[in-house]
Amino acid sequence: KAEASPEEVGYYHALMMFTKVDKSKGLQEKFQVAMRSMAKHGSFPEGEVLVLHFVSDEGSRELGQKMLPELLMDATFLYQVVFHDVSSLTEKLFPIVEAMQKHFSAGSGAYYSDAIFFLSVAMHRIMPPDLKRIVQLDLDLKYRSNIRDLFQEFSRFPTEAVIGIAREMQPVYRHTFWQYRKENPKSKVGEPPPDGKPGFNSGVMLLDLEAMRGSVLYNQLLEPGRVASLAEQYHFQGHLGDQDFFTMIGMEHPELFSPLGCGWNRQLCTWWREHGYGDIFQLYYRCEGPVHIYHGNCNTPIPDD
Ligand code: UDP
Ligand code: MN
Repeated sequence: KAEASPEEVGYYHALMMFTKVDKSKGLQEKFQVAMRSMAKHGSFPEGEVLVLHFVSDEGSRELGQKMLPELLMDATFLYQVVFHDVSSLTEKLFPIVEAMQKHFSAGSGAYYSDAIFFLSVAMHRIMPPDLKRIVQLDLDLKYRSNIRDLFQEFSRFPTEAVIGIAREMQPVYRHTFWQYRKENPKSKVGEPPPDGKPGFNSGVMLLDLEAMRGSVLYNQLLEPGRVASLAEQYHFQGHLGDQDFFTMIGMEHPELFSPLGCGWNRQLCTWWREHGYGDIFQLYYRCEGPVHIYHGNCNTPIPDD
């Protein structure tokens, strides 16, 4: 078969935050596990290309450029690597997310450098308009399925959905929404699955950038006044960045989110089990069915299979 012309090629875009990696042995090990397992299980037909985007500082970029050829050595598919400079993205992002930062960051101030933790929230305004879909992935992941299958989940989005995301698997938002839950004892906010609303985890996200650009509602929710009034309504003060924002707006507007199965972001952190929530922990933690991606969040070791 002749080489595919650009119009025929299918591009699959995946983005990872990749900063201070050169300074952290731990992050380097996570990066190795993630890339090797992605290469091992990834499979794409001829004419398709996986584009890996890394948001990095100079030191991390140099390390990534050096390590990637070996980590992806066993890949049977075509891939491209694109590095994005964290400072230029932060410069574009800060004016959009500055006002929401205080609601979803540790401490009280809106630090300029923290804006990058909200990249997913405004990715549709930062990336070029011809980029229509992208998945954002943490580094502390281990792939057990073909990453191409994750992209197929875009086709399950309901009409109004703009983001695909899995639920949070610890009772962290039961804790965060404590006051709201006290005032609204019948509410499902912070309750466990399958009937409750446990909030979201941002380790694996499908961003339909085209839908995000086109959604009047989603863009209204980015306005400082709207964020502030929702934060007041829910008595919300978080410190987990984008996942706090999505969790909060998801309580009010669940139709914006397409639920990803728990197997696509099987979080392993058990911190809240030992911090006052041992009795109800399992209701949140359990996830049946095949694990496609393990997420070793809060530095939790990932099983060897
Ligand atoms: N990250 C990074 N540099 C850092 C810390 C984090 O690039 O110094 C990125 C990395 O992609 C990581 C993601 O930010 O996976 C989220 O952090 P982490 O996975 O440690 O958070 P957790 O899932 O434990 O809440
Ligand atoms: Mn993580």
